[in-house]
Amino acid sequence: MASHIVGYPRMGPKRELKFALESFWDGKSTAEDLQKVSADLRSDIWKQMSSAGIKYIPSNTFAYYDQVLDTTAMLGAVPPRYGWNSGEIGFDVYFSMARGNASVPAMEMTKWFDTNYHYIVPELGPELGVETVPVLVGPVSYLLLSKLAKGVDKSFDLLSVLPKVLPIYKEVIAELKGAGATWIQFDEPLFVMDLEGHKLQAFSGAYAELESTLSGLNGVTAFGFDLIRGTKTIDLIKSSFPQGKYLFAGVVDGRNIWANDLAASLITLQSLEGIVGKDKLVVSTSCSLLHTAVDLVNETKLDAEIKSWLAFAAQKVVEVDALAKALAGQKNESFFSANAAALSSRRSSPRVTNESVQKAAAALKGSDHRRATEVNARLDAQQKKLNLPILPTTTIGSFPQTVELRKVRREYKAKKISEEDYVKAIKEEIKKVVDIQEELDIDVLVHGEPERNDMVEYFGEQLSGFAFTANGWVQSYGSRCVKPPIIYGDVSRPKPMTVFWSSTAQSMTKRPMKGMLTGPVTILNWSFVRNDQPRHETCYQIALAIKDEVEDLEKGGIGVIQIDEAALREGLPSFYLDWAIHTHMCYSNFNDIIHSIIDMDADVITIENSRSDEKLLSVFREGVKYGAGIGPGVYDIHSPRIPSTDEIADRINKMLAVLEQNILWVNPDCGLKTRKYTEVKPALKNMVDAAKLIRSQL
Ligand code: GLN
Ligand code: ZN
Repeated sequence: MASHIVGYPRMGPKRELKFALESFWDGKSTAEDLQKVSADLRSDIWKQMSSAGIKYIPSNTFAYYDQVLDTTAMLGAVPPRYGWNSGEIGFDVYFSMARGNASVPAMEMTKWFDTNYHYIVPELGPELGVETVPVLVGPVSYLLLSKLAKGVDKSFDLLSVLPKVLPIYKEVIAELKGAGATWIQFDEPLFVMDLEGHKLQAFSGAYAELESTLSGLNGVTAFGFDLIRGTKTIDLIKSSFPQGKYLFAGVVDGRNIWANDLAASLITLQSLEGIVGKDKLVVSTSCSLLHTAVDLVNETKLDAEIKSWLAFAAQKVVEVDALAKALAGQKNESFFSANAAALSSRRSSPRVTNESVQKAAAALKGSDHRRATEVNARLDAQQKKLNLPILPTTTIGSFPQTVELRKVRREYKAKKISEEDYVKAIKEEIKKVVDIQEELDIDVLVHGEPERNDMVEYFGEQLSGFAFTANGWVQSYGSRCVKPPIIYGDVSRPKPMTVFWSSTAQSMTKRPMKGMLTGPVTILNWSFVRNDQPRHETCYQIALAIKDEVEDLEKGGIGVIQIDEAALREGLPSFYLDWAIHTHMCYSNFNDIIHSIIDMDADVITIENSRSDEKLLSVFREGVKYGAGIGPGVYDIHSPRIPSTDEIADRINKMLAVLEQNILWVNPDCGLKTRKYTEVKPALKNMVDAAKLIRSQL
C-alpha cells in the first residue's frame, strides 16, 4: 500500500527561507547563500518524508516566491516591461516580477482559491517566449489563473495559448524523464470550479496531447482527489472511477492542523479499495501541505492536552504513512488507539464548550443582521459630525513597525520590561504617528497599531477559545508568513480589547481617530478553525465579541471605526457583516463580491485594488450602483516603490470617472506596517498632494 504527499511547506520549520530571502533582498547576503539555504530545506524535507516511509515524495513544490510565478518563468511569459528577452531568468527579473523594482511595479497578486496563499497572476496575450525550468502547475489551470496582458483584446481566449504552452510542457516532461522521473504530478486545482464545457474539453485535449510524451513514464495513470473539502467527490469516485487507474485518495486534511480521525479515514480507504483495487489505491493528503504549519515538535508553548488534538505537516506525513501501513495489514495499534483517545478527549473537554456563548449565538434573529437606518441618512449625519473635505484622506491602520518597536513588544511579552514602561513606549510611538499624520495633513487619523503584532493574533490573544503556537507559520506570499491562531473552543470577550489605545490616541488630536478592529470573517479565515461545529457558528460567536467591542469604542468617544475584513472573500457567500461601519478589504476579488459588499451596508469601504485597478473600475463601468463611501487603494504598499503625485492623481481621476466625487476616499491600498518610514512619508505626502490637487480642480 503506497503513500503520497501532494506538497510540503517551503518556508522551513523556523522560517529559514523567509530570513534568507529578506537578507538577500537587503543586499546582506548573496544569491549563493539564498540558493544554499533553499537546497538544504529541500533535502531536509525529502529525507524526513522518506524516513517516515512515504513512497511518492513530491519535488518541484519549492519556489523562491511562488509556484505560479515559477511557471511563468518556465514558460518565458515575462511581461515585456521587466526587460527580459531571452536566456536564463535570473533572480533580478524573477523578483522584479514578484516585488517590483525602482522603475516598474510588481505584477498583480491574488488569492489562491480560498486559502490565504497569494500567487502572482500571469499576464497572457498572443506573444509568448520559450524558456524551460521544470515546475508543474498544470497547463490548463495555469492559463485559467492568468489575466489578459495590458492592451490585449478582451475577446482573447486565454485557452488559445494552450498550443504554445503544451510543447514547452512536453520539453519539460522529456527533461524530467531524462533525469529519471517515473511519475510527474500535474496540479490542476481549477478542477474544483464549475467549469464550462469548453474548459473541460481543454483539460481532456491538453492531457491527450501530453500523453504521447508521458508514455514511458506511467502515462496518465493516476488521479488525485481532495476527499475532505468536496463532500460529493467520494460518491463520484464510487460511481465512475476509470478502470485500471491509480487513485490518490486525499484523506488527510492539508488545510488544517487537527489530528486526522484515523479510524474514520481507514473506513473510507477500505471502501475505496473495493472500487479501484488494493494495488491501485494510494493514501494521500487533500492538497499540498503548504497551507498548514510545519512541525509540532517546535511547539513548546502549547499544553499537552491541546497538543494531542493536533497534527502539523510533519505529523500529517506520519498519519498518511500509518494509514497506508494499516491498509496493507501492518496496523500500528498503539498509534491508532492514541489517536482515538485524543479525539475523544477533544470531544468531551470542558475547555471546548461555553454554554452562554452557545446560547447567545443561537438566539440571533434575522433583524440582528441588518442596520436600522438608510445609508444616505447615515452619511449625512456623519458629514455633519466629522465635517470632512471632499476626497478625504486616510490610511488603513498600521504604520511602519521598526526594529525598536518590535523589541519593546517582545521584551514586554517576556516580562523584561514593566507594564508602565511598555505603555509609555507605545504612547510615544502613537504620538509620533499622530504628529506625522497631522503634519502630512491627513484628514482621518489612525493610531498606527504599534501594540499589535498581527491583526488576528492581537484579538485572538484577548478572546477565549483561542490557542497560539510558537512556530506555526504558514506562507502568505513571498517571504511573508502568518501564524494563524487555533480556535479550539467557544469564543467570548472577557474584557475590552482596543478601547484604551484608541481613546488614548483620540486624546492626542482634534481630528477624528479611527478605532481599528479585525472583523469576524477575517479572524475566522485566518485562524485554524475547529472542525467540530459548522464554521458559521464559530463566526457568529466572534461577531458577537467584536460587536461588544464596537459598542465600547463608541462609549469611549471613538466616532469612526474601521473593521478590517482582509479575508472577506474566503467566507462568501455564507456570511455578511451588516453592522460594519468602516470596513477594509484586502486582496479580495471585487467582482465576486460586489453584491455582498452592497448588502453588507457599510458606511465606507476601502478596498485593496491597486494591483487590479481595471477590474474594480469595470465593475462600476458596467453600472453597479454604489452609494456608500468607498476608498479604492490609490497606491500599492506591497512594493517599496514610492508613487508620484501625478500617478496617484491619475488613479483618483480614473475612479472619479466612474464614481460620485462625494463618496470617494483617498487611501493607500493596505496597512503600512511592512514598509519603512523613508518610503511611507514621501508616499503619503504625494497621496495627500494628489488629493489636494484634484480637490482644487473640481
Ligand atoms: N488595519 C490593518 C493594518 O493596517 C489592516 C491590514 C489588512 O487589512 N491586511 O495593518
Ligand atoms: Zn489590507
